[in-house]
Amino acid sequence: MNTVLQPLDVTAIRRDFPLLSRVFHGRPVVYLDSAVSGQMPLQVIERMAKYEREEHTNVHRGVSTLSQEATDFYEAAREKVRRFIGAGSPREIVWTRGTTEAINLVAQTFGRMSVRKGDEILLSAMEHHANIVPWQMLAEEKGATLKVIPMTDEGELILDSLDELLTDRTKLLGVVHVSNVLGTVNPVKEIIAKAHARGVPVLVDGAQAVPHLTVDVRNLDADFYVFSGHKLSGPTGIGVLYGKLAHLEAMPPWHGGGSMIRSVTWEKTTYVAAPGKFEAGTPPIAAAIGLGAAIDYLATLGLDRIAAHEHDLLVYATERLNRIPGLRILGTAKEKASVISFVVEGIHPHDLGSLLDGEGVVVRAGHHCAQPVMARFCVPATTRASFAYFNTREEVDVLVSAVEKAIELFK
Ligand code: PLP
Repeated sequence: MNTVLQPLDVTAIRRDFPLLSRVFHGRPVVYLDSAVSGQMPLQVIERMAKYEREEHTNVHRGVSTLSQEATDFYEAAREKVRRFIGAGSPREIVWTRGTTEAINLVAQTFGRMSVRKGDEILLSAMEHHANIVPWQMLAEEKGATLKVIPMTDEGELILDSLDELLTDRTKLLGVVHVSNVLGTVNPVKEIIAKAHARGVPVLVDGAQAVPHLTVDVRNLDADFYVFSGHKLSGPTGIGVLYGKLAHLEAMPPWHGGGSMIRSVTWEKTTYVAAPGKFEAGTPPIAAAIGLGAAIDYLATLGLDRIAAHEHDLLVYATERLNRIPGLRILGTAKEKASVISFVVEGIHPHDLGSLLDGEGVVVRAGHHCAQPVMARFCVPATTRASFAYFNTREEVDVLVSAVEKAIELFK
């Protein structure tokens, strides 16, 4: 059955984001940088402020009504995350500071436990540094090797190579769900199935996927799935590690301290069960509650309606940018999220970024924490526009005019 989606009421949505009414250099701001960090709606900011104003205390520590209430809000946010990604139990949801910390946690616990000298860790050619460096550090420590799944010039992973790259020595496969540079949506379900057929567990970096796609970790059968709150209309300082319970139970703790222990004597410490054993110290309580509020906010808009709106912007912007002579888009995969990286002949991406800034257009210029992707496409950097549910076609037009103006200046 084909259900017709009601389009988003973008005018109403934009009222939830006061930043969108700001003026930079005499021009209304056009925020096309949600891949770097999503904006938070007022509903999220106000929920966090309410906690700080009226509900603030520590969690899991007191018998007071105040403390129990804060613990309930904090744990309710964990439950919202569980539902949001389709995990089986809130015990599979570990709070972290973000995607980067979640991957480091897995590398330094699961990785240290399972990787030995001569073993291999398989990553894709389009990983963010967050899903490269922790594995490289582990490989150096253990005498293991990193191997790389190559990609095509369009920015699609060459999955046939998996038959050769997955070996008896492969101890983990790490893959990004949506590339932050190319926008490619990787077929992670298929990749996971191939890896599992060889007994290899898979970590999926979902930092750029959760804001755009409906994710079901059980359907994907991911062993680990990680993301950050701040890309999901939530605050910075909070992120999520989903891990299958069997893995989390087998993994040793990482950071030691308060909250993660069952008992401490001078002779020995015992630990609480997952996820608590990975959550030492006072957590970012307001941020966790804020992330829960962000998930609620996105649910009221509907992820399928968000995806449809962003797809429209992606198609429209791609079509308009492609008409500009000398402009080349990097990443032309069939399945793409609303991220467009491009280079313009004769203009350094940093110069272009500054010129766009002068027109009120906020984009990212640089290597996007993905230097191996830059090397693969033989560019030092790109300019990247990324679209969210509050962006409009008119804003795409402003971007296009600003790029055209920059090209005129450089003639
Ligand atoms: N992975 C991807 C694909 C990203 O885009 C990012 C951030 O840009 C990260 C990981 C790192 O996220 P964080 O800095 O929030 O830990």
